[in-house]
Amino acid sequence: MIIETFSPEETFRIGEEIGQKACPGDVYTLIGDLGVGKTLFTQGVAKGLEIEEAISSPTFTIVQVYEEGRLPFYHFDVYRIGDVDEMDEVGYEDYVYGDGVSMIEWADLIEEILPEKYTRVTIEKDLSKGVDYRRITIEEIGA
Ligand code: ADP
Ligand code: MG
Repeated sequence: MIIETFSPEETFRIGEEIGQKACPGDVYTLIGDLGVGKTLFTQGVAKGLEIEEAISSPTFTIVQVYEEGRLPFYHFDVYRIGDVDEMDEVGYEDYVYGDGVSMIEWADLIEEILPEKYTRVTIEKDLSKGVDYRRITIEEIGA
């Protein structure tokens, strides 16, 4: 499925819809360049999960855990990962194979340890369509 958005608010809203529909154990990966809207999308998902707390980029912690929403929410940003072994240290498998919802920014860096089934969200710019344009591609992997 491909969705085009023309403002940050629209991208947030797409995330929110996904958060509203998310089920225990769902894993989402987010692919796209720096500044494309991965964290903004994630903030929408958190809103959809009824999380009130502010969501920031967990750049220095790899994973940020939010427990107060409709489902536990595990927000990963693996941009600074040196080796996939670092994911073991943060308890990656307990989260990803657990009963919450996982969102993994820069998941292409840990491709070899992604679960068999997940939803891949790719966000891309196209400057010919304006600075606020984003193309969001949502694909079911391994389904
Ligand atoms: P990332 O996490 O991918 O590095 P962020 O979500 O932190 O990116 O930042 C995205 C930036 O792009 C924000 O400043 C946001 O306002 C801006 N932006 C402009 N148009 C859009 C759009 N259509 N969708 C998402 N973000 C947009
Ligand atoms: Mg980010």
